[in-house]
Amino acid sequence: MISQKKIEGGVHLFEAAGLGKAPFRFIGCVDDSVGANPSYGGMVFRGERDGVDHWTQPGGSCAYCGQGIIVFCWIRSADGKKFKVGSDCVKKVGDAGLRLVVDTAVAKRRREQKQRRDAARIANARELLRFPTVCQRLRDQVHPVARHAACGLTMWHWVDWMLRHAGIRGKLSACKAVEAACAEPGELDRTAPCAIL
Ligand SMILES: [Zn+2]
Repeated sequence: MISQKKIEGGVHLFEAAGLGKAPFRFIGCVDDSVGANPSYGGMVFRGERDGVDHWTQPGGSCAYCGQGIIVFCWIRSADGKKFKVGSDCVKKVGDAGLRLVVDTAVAKRRREQKQRRDAARIANARELLRFPTVCQRLRDQVHPVARHAACGLTMWHWVDWMLRHAGIRGKLSACKAVEAACAEPGELDRTAPCAIL
């Protein structure tokens, strides 16, 4: 890695590192993670070197610092060289314009990932709610709102309502209740869908 101190005369650090001529343009962020695989400590990445699908350990390395990276920020130099770096190195090289574009893209990507994770979690909770054991465990708990609990409504009613009508935070709270019910000791009866739904 090239130290910023060694660079004089305003040479872009990517250029000094032999990555092509400035200015550098951000092309896009790629995360080739394809899901969990316990044999690789939970993450597997699709190799993109030769366009062939193959599994590698996380993720390729940064063209600037050589460190392994998970999110590839693809950059193109003014003379057409294309390379990938980690978002941390974009911050390090002191190119404010490039940094802003990359930060925005990385933040957007994180938001989208979270939305996908949340949606999957909610879908999973809906699915779990079909199991009689889970229904029963939730019905054995009182409704978290006192006046509804007083009418005999249960946690199941709350979860069911929340998963249908609440905003994202409410839906995730309901997921928590469903997941907790599943985590209680004892087997889940997965044989028949809950008759009430
Ligand atoms: Zn780097």
